Amino acid sequence: MAIPGPDGSTVQPIVLGGQSTYARLVSFVAGDVLSDSRYLAPEIVAALGDLAARTSRALTGLAGQVPTRSLQWDLRNAAEVVTRLADFVTVPGGREAVLAAARTAARALAPYAGSLPLQVIHGDLTDDNVIAAVDDDGRRRPVGVIDFGDLAESWSIAELAVTCTSLLAHSPDPATMLPAIVAYDGIRPISDDELAALGPLVVLRAAALAVSGQQQAQVDPTNHYATENLAREWAIFERATSVPLEVLTELIRASVRPRREHRTAHGSALLWIDQPVVPTALDLSATSPELHDGYFLVDDAEATAAAAAIKRDGSAAVSVPYVQPRLTRTGLNSFEAPASIGLGVEVFAGQDLELRAPWSGVAARYDDAVALKSPEGLTLWLSGATASVEGAVDTGDILGRLAAHDSLRVQVSDLDSRPPFFVSASLAAAWGESCPDPTGLIDPAAVRTAPTGAEELLDRRDRAFAPVQEHYFRQPPQIERGWRSHLFDTDGRSYLDMVNNVSILGHGHPRLAAAIERQWRLLNTNSRFHYGAVVEFSERLAALLPEPLDTVFLVNSGTEAVDLALRLAWANTGRRDIVSVREAYHGWSDATDAVSTSVADNPNALESRPSWAHTVAAPNAYRGQYRGADAYRYAEDAVAAVNNLTAQGHPPAAFLSESFYGNAGGMALPDGYLPTVYAAVRRAGGLCIADEVQVGYGRLGHHFWGFEQQNAVPDIVTVAKAMGNGHPLGAVITTAAIAAGYRSQGYFFSSAGGSPVSCVAGTVVLDVLRDEQLQENARVVGGHLRTRLLELAERHPIIGAVHGMGLYVGVELVRDRTTLEPATAETAAICERMRELGVIMQPTSDRLCVLKIKPPLGIGTADADFFADALDRVLTEGW
Ligand code: PMP
Repeated sequence: MAIPGPDGSTVQPIVLGGQSTYARLVSFVAGDVLSDSRYLAPEIVAALGDLAARTSRALTGLAGQVPTRSLQWDLRNAAEVVTRLADFVTVPGGREAVLAAARTAARALAPYAGSLPLQVIHGDLTDDNVIAAVDDDGRRRPVGVIDFGDLAESWSIAELAVTCTSLLAHSPDPATMLPAIVAYDGIRPISDDELAALGPLVVLRAAALAVSGQQQAQVDPTNHYATENLAREWAIFERATSVPLEVLTELIRASVRPRREHRTAHGSALLWIDQPVVPTALDLSATSPELHDGYFLVDDAEATAAAAAIKRDGSAAVSVPYVQPRLTRTGLNSFEAPASIGLGVEVFAGQDLELRAPWSGVAARYDDAVALKSPEGLTLWLSGATASVEGAVDTGDILGRLAAHDSLRVQVSDLDSRPPFFVSASLAAAWGESCPDPTGLIDPAAVRTAPTGAEELLDRRDRAFAPVQEHYFRQPPQIERGWRSHLFDTDGRSYLDMVNNVSILGHGHPRLAAAIERQWRLLNTNSRFHYGAVVEFSERLAALLPEPLDTVFLVNSGTEAVDLALRLAWANTGRRDIVSVREAYHGWSDATDAVSTSVADNPNALESRPSWAHTVAAPNAYRGQYRGADAYRYAEDAVAAVNNLTAQGHPPAAFLSESFYGNAGGMALPDGYLPTVYAAVRRAGGLCIADEVQVGYGRLGHHFWGFEQQNAVPDIVTVAKAMGNGHPLGAVITTAAIAAGYRSQGYFFSSAGGSPVSCVAGTVVLDVLRDEQLQENARVVGGHLRTRLLELAERHPIIGAVHGMGLYVGVELVRDRTTLEPATAETAAICERMRELGVIMQPTSDRLCVLKIKPPLGIGTADADFFADALDRVLTEGW
């Protein structure tokens, strides 16, 4: 045989082990097969689609050069392969399942089979044949393709079908494959016929894989590759057929050709009491006022909300709109998104109702439903009704009854099998094409306005709201409700909020909401008036601080508090110079920005400082200049810096620092740091400002204030964030003498600072903190969380350290535990994956390589465990 070489000359065989053989040299691509990654991020899935499209394009040049051969893996033969090998399937019911799936798919494919474009394809472009290498963010990305053994002519689109099918090994959700399809289409546009064929081809490929694997395993039990793959291949088949083919096809189609309109069903009125009954709407969405105060989590929440609405409005019935995502279907601490979307209208009856046929057809009775099939093939499913007929029915005939207090699920479908009523958001639109909107049968006048999607809202946000005010996550979920330690998006997905240091009481606290509402109705004005709330709150705040800190200023934010603290220092000392700690953030106003040197917040922070702002090293005992036992030297250097300024004739007006090092992820300052530095500053005649905006107010569990951990007492304390639980509130607490020093500047007034509403908010936060023992909870649950995280650190080398105290914790991620190279890109990617698993997490520190763990102080042990389990899963499966 003569084989042409790349230069056209004939390649000669070589002799290996006495045998004449052809050797081929290929360039080496470093990496492992992509199937080693258990989790594939949407970006990686897209990269696979991209690879499939580019491979297709590259192989078009081989037209006519590859011999025609009939391969088992050619999807043109798949239906025949499945029929031939189905008997090898040993899974109970499996033989029938593969045969039925292949038959349905072949039927759906038939109209296109003769006209789909053909070309030479790789034919086995799966995760097993794609080489992946670790990229900067720790994700394994496709870098090469191997195994051209199945190279042959086939349908072009079969290349993508094979790739998509292999993706189902990584996730049970068929929507997982969509980024690959979108990416493929972007490079090699998919025709309408190919789009229609893709779903059937995925099913055929999955069925062919399943039967071939079973056959191989039986024919050759020593073929470990085949036996080990059986479960995986069967899972792929089950996932490919987990939705009807019509739904799979629509899912694929809509990913590249989104629909604007949704299908609706029409007919005469279904619900009657002498005359048609039109129910009033029952809102069970994330924003429903019926579901405040965690009402959506109680048993029977939907029926209870319906009964309350019926009683309040005196209506004969209420109904939950078609495909409204229901908050009542959410699950807390769940890795999976809930099946929250009803593919029909649910009616809750306040009185006995008659159900009349909206069209003529044939009625059938089920244990829990009546089905009425129209001559056009549309079936009306009434779940929960008592059926009274069977057989032929005319429009307007009584089909059954709905008793008062019962509920009825009204669903219309043109599928052969009974559809589920609830599905997850990722599949809802695709299901909707097979389950049209039945609202017209219940309320002919209803106008359905499609809600704005999260992505569309984000576009509007970017246009109206200065984008320099960034948002979390690349594709942020639209969060519209919070309850305790959880946040909920508009699809009803719950997220454990592990980042929200402001909401110490948790979200939606009824006591706080009620108190604020009450005060709004009574009075809201400014502190130049004389009223009780400002006095009570100021006394309560002052009582939390050690002597001689007894005098309070009220403002609206941390920035204002720190700004005011600086002005107090300037006014009292008549000096300008301020010493602050590097890598910290204190606010965005001119003055607070000048003393903020965190490059994560402002990349030019260090260069843009005015001459009065001086910094000392961030006392980071983990990765700074002085580590471990040497960390005491940070205080010595800070003292030297203060003395130096004095020697140069610029003694500082103040030293400003967080009292627990927040930006590093909640790291304690080195022992003795504050007492030593404060003493030096006071010797120089300066004041000591403790910024407690982030770390104070009980979060540390063992201490209410960060400076207590240091056994130091500052001259001025700044507070914000937690003190209003999200209501804009800030305070400066100092001595009466320092407060009086402000007089040299005039007088102090902040229009909303100290308003009755703000003061009531602040007072209730303190009440709840005390009554619910939240500081103690932070100590106990924080201790548990720390134990769990330290255990993870033993198994996952990327965890360099677990910083923090109480519920201010930082997990620092490094590429190397010796060099401490920050795992910055990995941390961002890990946070994205944590969100998919139902946890809100964000990076912090100047290197953005620390997981910033600062949940509401009321989280339970189960929440802490869920967080640790999610992190464990991400670090184990990849991100
Ligand atoms: N000081 C510290 C330590 C902070 O963390 C922040 C906010 N991140 C501020 C001050 C500024 O607070 P605010 O955003 O309320 O203005």
